[in-house]
Parts: sequence; C-alpha cells; structure tokens
Amino acid sequence: MGAKIIDGKAIADEIRVELTAELDELKAQGIEPGIATLLVGDNFGAKMYRGAVEKFCAEMGFGYRDETHSADVTEADVIKIVESLNADPTVSGILPLRPFPDHISDSAVINSISVNKDVDCFHPFNMGKLALGEPTFPPATPSACIELMERYMKSEGIDPTDGFEGAEICVVGHSNIVGKPVSFLALNRNASTTTVHVFTSMKGNLEKHTSVADYVIVAAGFPNLINAAQVKEGAVIIDVGINRVFVCPSCEAINRAKKDPCRNCGADLAEAAAKTVGDANFDDLVPKVKAITPVPGGVGSVTNMMLAKNTLRAARLLAQT
Ligand code: NAD
Repeated sequence: MGAKIIDGKAIADEIRVELTAELDELKAQGIEPGIATLLVGDNFGAKMYRGAVEKFCAEMGFGYRDETHSADVTEADVIKIVESLNADPTVSGILPLRPFPDHISDSAVINSISVNKDVDCFHPFNMGKLALGEPTFPPATPSACIELMERYMKSEGIDPTDGFEGAEICVVGHSNIVGKPVSFLALNRNASTTTVHVFTSMKGNLEKHTSVADYVIVAAGFPNLINAAQVKEGAVIIDVGINRVFVCPSCEAINRAKKDPCRNCGADLAEAAAKTVGDANFDDLVPKVKAITPVPGGVGSVTNMMLAKNTLRAARLLAQT
C-alpha cells in the first residue's frame, strides 16, 4: 500500500477559508490588518517571496506595503524605514526578506523591528518566547510543518492535542529559520525531539536517528537526502526542502548545477530540464512510509497561511495598544 500524500494546497485552501472569516470579523470592527515586506537588493528568492506575499495579500484582502530598495541603501536608512513601518498603523506585520546585501547587518535590522509586528518570529525576544513555549508569533514555515502534522493526525483519528506527546520526531536541519524553531514547536508539544544536521551526517550517524522516528521533518536544502533505507516502515515525512535541480536528459539523474556534466553519466546538461524537488526522495519513500508531503504542494503551500494567521494576531495586538 502506498503512502497517503498530505495535500498542502488543499490544507492551505481550508485554512484560507478559516482566516478569511476571521479577517472579515476584524474588518467589521474597523481593524484593517496589513503586511509590509522589506527587500533590499535583487536576490531572486527574496523577490519571488515578495511577489507571493503581495499576491496573497491582494487575494485575501490584507493591506500591503512594499518597501523595496536598491542594494546601495545604507544600513542607517534601512533602520529608518523599519522605524517608519513600526509607526505605520496600516502595517500590522513586518516581513524582512533576506538575504540583505553584505553591508547591512541582519541582526541590526531585525532588532529594530517592533516585537509586536515581528510576524515571522525573527526578533530574539520572540525567539526567546518560542523557546520558553509561549510564542506570540510561531514562525511561518515551522508552524506550517506542525499544522500539516496536526491535520494529518486528525484525518487518521488521532487527537492532535496529545498526538505529539512522546512521538519520536527527528528534525533534519538546525537553521534558525526552520530546524531549530520547528524542534522547539515539537518539543513544546511534548514530542521526543531529536535535531540532526550536517555534522551528524559527517559522523555517519544520520540514519541512526532518522530510522527510529515516527515523524521525520527534513529541512536541509539537499535534494534526495532522505531515502527509504533511512526511515522506518510507516513513518510520516514532512519535507520542507525546496531545491531547483536539473534532470539529465540521458540517465534522468538529478544534478544541482547545469554548467557541469551529469554527476552520474557525464552527459552534457545544456538541454537538461529544471525541476523543483524537496529533500526527501519522494518516489523511493512512498511505498514504505505512511504519509508524506510533496514538493511542490506541501509545506510551502501552507507557509503563507501561517504568516496570514500571525498577521491577524498582530492586528489584534495593535488594536489593543
Ligand atoms: P540552511 O542552509 O540555513 O540550513 C540547512 C540545514 O540543513 C543546516 O542545519 C545543515 O546542517 C543541515 N544539512 C545540510 N546538509 C545536510 C546533510 N547532508 N545531512 C544533514 N543535515 C544537513 O537552510 P534553511 O533556511 O533551514 O532551509 C532548508 C530548506 O528548506 C531549503 O531547501 C529551503 O529552500 C527550504 N525552505 C522552505 C520553506 C518553505 O516554506 N517551504 C521555507 C524556508 C526554507
């Protein structure tokens, strides 16, 4: 029997309906939630994300303020822009889109964001609250993982309020953006959480941890890192990875760059088709696992809805002050 495919797009649509009702309620009270993005320079990923945020704001009826600036803007000017966003009553949530150019310090910008508008939980105050188990704004991508797990549990007749308790959850990746916060969110739900990373792999110990997990959350940015041989029968895989790869026209092997010959057969990749894949080897895993999120159409689909949810919370906080 094959795995259940956890449909992130369908789940995002369900959440969108729930949040639109909440947004309408707030608007009826005269509260107009809005998001501002802060983009400096022209990083491709950051620009894509900005466009996606603008699009969902327009579709759902959130206000939107675009702060896009050229790479030569000074750090002092970026901080002034953040201060103006902090003071703007139409902006409930501020989303800094990184990477910033080298002369602008991430922490200087993040530390200047009002903690009540820090809707993706970047500020050390909000990260501290997350670690203490009382997050104001659970960060978007890690929350999307938990939301997908909760909705999967419900679909299996497991009560998500205690479904995490004692569950073996292995998080692959320990970044500040995904791995660490999702480990905290799972730990806060009383899961037995193990966090592994590149140094675990370098010691040859990755499989030791992934193979005993009930749930494997993988956020490594490494295509096909997790295969069937590394997980137990009936595990649930949540794949956060988004990797642009090139499929060899001769042997169909996946390559990370187009400029070099195919790493498997040495063929020229000039005509290779680009494809987006996760960190889990989907086709290999499907026959063995109980459930898996696809890429695209899994975690990424739900992430924006988590951002929207935090923005509603921020708008309520702003209305109370
Ligand atoms: P990152 O580069 O900051 O961190 C990667 C982590 O993976 C590190 O902890 C590293 O130690 C670990 N890692 C790398 N190679 C490994 C290996 N061989 N074995 C074990 N661990 C290894 O990346 P990030 O910002 O955490 O993002 C991770 C992935 O998630 C990327 O593909 C990114 O594009 C994707 N992402 C998706 C969303 C979404 O909404 N779906 C959001 C953010 C990031």
